[in-house]
Amino acid sequence: MAENDIHSAKCAFYDIFFTNASEAIFITDPKGRMLTANPGYLHKFDICESQAIGKIPAILKSGGQDEDSFHALFRTLKRRGSYRGEILNKRGDGEVLREWLSISSHKNGKGEITHYVGTVIDAANQMSQSLNKHYYDSLTMLPNRLLLQDRLEFMINHARRNNELMALLLLDIDRFKLINDTFGYEIGDALLQLMADRLITCVRDVDVVFRSGDDEFAIILEEVAHQEDASKVAKRILNACAGVIKVSGHDIHTSVCIGISIFPIDGDGKVPILQNAETAMHRAREVGLNNYQHYKPSMNARALERLTLENDLRNALGRGELSTFFQPQVEIKTGKITGMEALIRWRHPEHGMIPPNQFIPIAEDTGLILSIGEWVLRSACAQARKWQKTGEPLIISVNLSANQFQQEDLVPLVESALRDSGMLPSLLELEITESMSMKNPEDTLKTLTSLKDLGVRIAIDDFGTGYSSLSYLKRFPIDTLKIDRSFLMDIPENSRDAEIVKAIIAMSHSLNLSVIAEGVEKETQAQYLLEHGCEKMQGYLFSPPVPAQEFDRLLHAQRG
Ligand code: C2E
Ligand code: MG
Ligand code: MG
Repeated sequence: MAENDIHSAKCAFYDIFFTNASEAIFITDPKGRMLTANPGYLHKFDICESQAIGKIPAILKSGGQDEDSFHALFRTLKRRGSYRGEILNKRGDGEVLREWLSISSHKNGKGEITHYVGTVIDAANQMSQSLNKHYYDSLTMLPNRLLLQDRLEFMINHARRNNELMALLLLDIDRFKLINDTFGYEIGDALLQLMADRLITCVRDVDVVFRSGDDEFAIILEEVAHQEDASKVAKRILNACAGVIKVSGHDIHTSVCIGISIFPIDGDGKVPILQNAETAMHRAREVGLNNYQHYKPSMNARALERLTLENDLRNALGRGELSTFFQPQVEIKTGKITGMEALIRWRHPEHGMIPPNQFIPIAEDTGLILSIGEWVLRSACAQARKWQKTGEPLIISVNLSANQFQQEDLVPLVESALRDSGMLPSLLELEITESMSMKNPEDTLKTLTSLKDLGVRIAIDDFGTGYSSLSYLKRFPIDTLKIDRSFLMDIPENSRDAEIVKAIIAMSHSLNLSVIAEGVEKETQAQYLLEHGCEKMQGYLFSPPVPAQEFDRLLHAQRG
C-alpha cells in the first residue's frame, strides 16, 4: 500500500474518532488557546464552536479552578509533558460536575511544543478515573508509590540492559509532622503541593517525581553517568526546598532530607534499591535538617549498632551506668550561680560516654524513657535537697521528654518525687521543649496548669526552634524561656540571629518571663546578651556540665 493511502486512512480514522467520541476532546496551541474541539466537547460545555475557538478553554481556569491552580497546571504540563487531574466544571445551569482532565503535549521534530491535546471525561463513573486514582496522588497529581514500584522495576531493567546507572532519591520533608500539628492539615496539604511543584522544577523532563508517602517523595533519575550527578540533583533540591515558604499567610521554614541509592552500585534489584535509599534517608534525618546522604553499606552496620545499643540501654539503669551531671546557670551581673540544669550521662562499659542526643531518642522509641526520666527526676530532687540543706536556694532544672510529658501519671510522679526528697517545689523547674508544648496546646495547658498547682516552675527549652503560637505562649503558665544555643553561636556577627535573640529577650520581658541563654561560649556573646537585657546564662564560658561533687567545688569557690 502506498504511504499516501495509509496517511489518508489514518486521517479518516482520526476524523471519525474525533467527531464521534463520547469524550470531550480539544486541541490548543502552545499558549493554551483553543484550535479545535469535538462535538463531545461543545456538548459537554454547552458552548458553540465560535465561542470556543481562540480562547483558553474555560475548564482550565474557571468553575472552581483558581488562578494559582491554573498556573500550576500549566507549569506541570510544560515540565512533565502531561497532566492528569480532577477538576470542577461549573455548567451554565449552575450545576458543578467533577471531571477528569488529561492533557498531553505534542512536539515537533525540534522538540518544540506545537499542540496540547486534552480529553475530559465524567469523573464519577469512568473506569479510567478509578485507575488513575489508583496510581496518582490526588493532592499533588504526582504518581504514587504503586507506580513508583512499577516504574522502578522498568527503569532497573532498562539500565541493566543498557549498562547504565540509575538513581533513586527518597525525600522527606523535615519536621512535617510538627508543621501539620501546628498549622493544621490544610496548610500541610498546601505545603505538599508547593513542594511537589518545586521538585518538578529541579529535575529533567525524563526524570519522574513520585509522592511515595505522607510527607515523602521519590525521584527516579535515569541515565546517570556518575554518582555525582545524583549528588548535583540532590543539592539543587536542597537549595530549592530550604527556606521560608509562604502558605496561606504563614511563613513556614522548610527543608528536606534526601537518601540516595544507585543501581547497580547499591543493589541489584528493586527491593535493595528501595530499601537502601530508605536507609540512606533515615541516616540523613539522623544527621540533621537539610542534607543528603548516599547509601553506604556501613549504614546497615549502624542499624545493627543501634539495636545493640537498645539492648544495652535496657540494662543501663540496673547496672548503674547512668548518672546525672549538673551545669551551672549564672546571673552575669553578680557572677553568682543561681541554679543548674540536670543532664543525664551514660557511661557505656565498652563505648565510653554516650551523649544524650544519641540515646534519648532510643529511649523514647522503646519506652525506656519513662523509667529513665523518673530516675533522673528523683536523683535530681535528692541532690537538690542536699544543696538546699547547705543553705543554697538553687533552682534545679530537669528535662522532660515528649513521652514523659504525655505520660498520664506525670503529675503524681512529680508530686511523689518532691515529697520523697523533701525539696521545696519552688526550686524545681521542669523543662519542656517548644515543639512539645505546641503539639497539642490545649493538653499542654492542662498539664502545665496541674504542674503549676504543685508549686514547681516551668521552662520552655530550645526556644526559637519550633513554631510557637504567641496566643498560647501567653496562656501557658510558664516562668522561663531558654534561648536555643543555635541562635547564639554566631552572634553578634550574624545580624539575623542577633535580631532573633533580641526579639526573644524583648518578648520574654513583655510577657513577664525570666529568660536564659544556653550554650554561651564566648565573652562577646555574653556581652551582647547582657546589653539586650538577658542576665541569666548557661554555657561552657562558665562551666560544662559536671558531676555533683565538682558542682560542690564550684559552689565552694563562689562562697570563698
Ligand atoms: P538541652 O536540654 O537543650 O541541654 C543543653 C545542652 O547543651 C546540653 O547537652 C549541654 O551540655 C549543652 N551545652 C551547654 N552549654 C554549652 C556550650 O556552651 N556549648 C555547647 N556546644 N553545648 C553546650 P547534653 O548534655 O549533651 O544534652 C543534650 C540534650 O539531651 C539536652 O538538650 C536534652 O534535650 C537532652 N537531655 C539531657 N539530659 C536529659 C534528661 O535527663 N532527660 C531528657 N528527657 N532529656 C535530656
Ligand atoms: Mg534542657
Ligand atoms: Mg536546650
